This record gives sequence, C-alpha cells and structure tokens, in this order.
Amino acid sequence: MAVEMVRVVVVGAGMAGVQTAVALRQQGYDGSLVLLGAEPHPPYDRPPLSKDVLLGRAEHSRFEIDFDELGIELALGRRALSLDADARTVKTDGGDLSYTQLVLATGAAPVSLPGQPDSAFLLRTQDDALALRAALRPGLRLVVVGAGWIGAEAATVARQLGCEVTVVEAANAPLAGALPAEFGERTRAWYARAGVELLTTSAVSEIGAHAVHLTDGRELAADAVVVGIGARPDNAWLAGSGIPLDDRGAVAADARLRAGRDDVHAVGDCASFPSARYGRRLAVHHWDNALQGARVVAANILGGEVVYDPVPYFWSEQFGHMVQVAGVVDQSARRLARGEDTVLWLRDDRLEAVVTVDKPRDLAQGRKLIEAGKQIDPAKAADPTTALKAATV
Ligand SMILES: Cc1cc2nc3c(=O)[nH]c(=O)nc-3n(C[C@H](O)[C@H](O)[C@H](O)COP(=O)(O)OP(=O)(O)OC[C@H]3O[C@@H](n4cnc5c(N)ncnc54)[C@H](O)[C@@H]3O)c2cc1C
Repeated sequence: MAVEMVRVVVVGAGMAGVQTAVALRQQGYDGSLVLLGAEPHPPYDRPPLSKDVLLGRAEHSRFEIDFDELGIELALGRRALSLDADARTVKTDGGDLSYTQLVLATGAAPVSLPGQPDSAFLLRTQDDALALRAALRPGLRLVVVGAGWIGAEAATVARQLGCEVTVVEAANAPLAGALPAEFGERTRAWYARAGVELLTTSAVSEIGAHAVHLTDGRELAADAVVVGIGARPDNAWLAGSGIPLDDRGAVAADARLRAGRDDVHAVGDCASFPSARYGRRLAVHHWDNALQGARVVAANILGGEVVYDPVPYFWSEQFGHMVQVAGVVDQSARRLARGEDTVLWLRDDRLEAVVTVDKPRDLAQGRKLIEAGKQIDPAKAADPTTALKAATV
C-alpha cells in the first residue's frame, strides 16, 4: 500500500463513519480500525427515525453489520473533545487515541430555537425518536416548528397516530430552504388533505408550557412541540485544531475529501467539498452523500486519488408521497415541467437537477442523465409519455 498503515480512527459512528470503516475493510485495509461514537447505542441509520421508528413499525434502525467480524473496534459512548493534528492525537472523554489516518464524520446537530425549553422535542437521534414516539397519542395537540423535511415527516407520522397537528413555518412555503417556493406550495395541499394545519409566514417567539407563541401575537395550544428547523455541522470539538472550516462551520474538505492535511479526511454531514460539476462548494446533508463519500475516503486513505463530485440525491416520504431530488436545484437554470409530477432544471440543454413526486423511474433516469452530462432535447424531456432516458440527442 502506498500509505503507511498503522491505525485508522474514525470519529462519528453514524452513516458516514460506519460506511467508511466498512469500505476500508471491503477495499482491503487490514490494519487497526477504531470507530468512535458519542452515542452509547449500537450504530444506527437515521432516515427510519422520522418514518417507521416514529410510527412504531420498527423498534430501531440499527445497521445490520457484524463489526466484530470485520475487525472494527467500536468505542461507543465516547466523545472526541479536541484534536492535536500535529501529534496525531484525538483527546476523548475516555482518554487519548493516536492515529495514522483520521476520519472526521461527526455529522450535524439539530438547531434549537433561542430559549427552547427541554420539554420540546428534537428529531435527530434514536433517543429523540423514541422519546417523541412515547409522547404521540390520539388527540395530542402537537405543534411542529418548521415545515422542512423533518417537520413534514414528523407531521405525517403524528397525524397517522391520531394527533391534532399544526405546523408553523417562518417562510412563505414548506421546504423553502431546499426547493423553489412553487414546489413547496404544491405540498400545501398534502397538509390540508392529511388534516394538518399549516401556518406559513409565521414565526415562533416563544415555546411556553402549554402553548406556542407566535411573533404576531397568536397563541397555539400545544401538549407537545417538535422543533425541526435544521441542523448544523457538529464540529465545535475541532476548535484550535487548524482543520479548516467553511463559513457555515463544515469541515472545508478538498476535492478528495482531505481536510487540510494528507492524514485527515472528512465525510458526511460534517463536511463540505468543492464540486467542479456545480462550480461551487457543496454541503450535502443527505444519506446518499454519507454513503458515497465514505467509499471515496476509504479509497484515498488506501493511497488513492479519487475525486468526489457526486450528483447529490435525496428522498423524503411525506403525506403518502415519495419526493426525490437528484442534482442541485439552481433557480438560474431553465425550469421544465414534465407532466404534473416531475420538474427538470436544464442548463445549455443539459440536465442539472430533477425533482419528482411518486415518479421513481423519472428520478432514476434523470439522475443518470445528470451524471452523464449528455445533451437532451427539451421537447422530448417535457413529454411524460416518452421515457426520460430517451430524451438524449
Ligand atoms: C430523522 C432524520 C431523517 C432523515 N431522513 C432522510 C431521508 O429520508 N433521506 C435522506 O437522504 N437523508 C435523510 N436524513 C439525513 C441523513 O440521515 C444524514 O445525512 C446522515 O445521517 C448523515 O450521516 P453522518 O454520518 O454524516 O452524520 P450523523 O448521522 O449525524 O452521524 C454522526 C455521528 O457522530 C457522532 N458524533 C458527533 N460528535 C462527536 C464527537 N465529538 N465524538 C464522537 N462522536 C461524535 C454523533 O453522535 C452521530 O452519531 C435524515 C436525518 C434525520 C435526522
């Protein structure tokens, strides 16, 4: 191997950290491998937390991985506190760990409202999901703050469990942070059909003991409150380490996911990377990014020079619909509707992004077209009776 192999330490035992460790073994690394995770639980997958786990259809979403058999040493319930990159040492609350190669995979932490009481629920961890699930019961008056992906999924499940749900959103449409307002507007009808009250352009001023207060003076009675207003890279422990962070606090990795040094790598929600494909730095807080990035990090630890420049992919299950997004939606690109349920964004007749509702085939074909960067015929692409993959010129 091109790199001296003694010990890899992965900090963060979520999707990105776990998949990096697994990929290292799959790609032939046979040295010592430690996976450090602050949470005490066996590593688990997050997307089911706001779906089957919250609904009670699944008890947990643990990864079905035999870490012992793979020779991956789990150090769980142990938190990295600081990094001395020159000494190649991670200080943890269970003692120091030295490494030859370090992987930063600490994910993101949910944003709280200022002054948010402890009684309000967040939805990021397994503990969060199980606590919320225990509270949800028919007739419970639940206020969900935020109509983003997490808020929409939490509202979906709470409604299925018979709660009276109100969603409060500061922006003028759901999903405003992620997609153009016209798409979010479209989901408004889904809330109504599910019997969920949606209040947009409505900001929360305070969460009280039995009510949520809005800045315009309205008061919403609430037995329980979920706050789903986003997540920020969980990198505070890197302060003073010299590891570069971008202006949003993500580890500013290079195109090979190296974090300012040859022996430190960053992947998943905690990192951003320069995308030649999209001509800017991307921070992608999605499951597929944690999976694909992990494989690149493993290859590069093993001496590779693999560039990471994915077509980001994301899905959300809300109000009985499967929303899927491939690529990066940029409003300066040309928008093209393909029937009712698929929207394409083109630049110079090349597909840049696709958003679908209950159209997995369009999504899969669109994703491949984006990856291939092939020119397409807009008239054919707009025709839902023709397969999207047949729209190339
Ligand atoms: C409820 C929910 C539903 C989601 N649903 C979808 C979906 O439907 N589709 C989709 O594409 N994406 C979804 N996502 C996003 C997806 O789960 C994340 O993008 C993915 O989990 C990122 O993986 P990660 O390993 O980078 O970060 P994380 O999963 O956040 O894992 C990071 C881990 O590092 C640990 N850690 C943090 N700091 C330290 C430290 N100092 N020392 C040690 N350990 C530390 C954390 O405890 C955590 O376990 C969802 C996320 C959530 C929360």
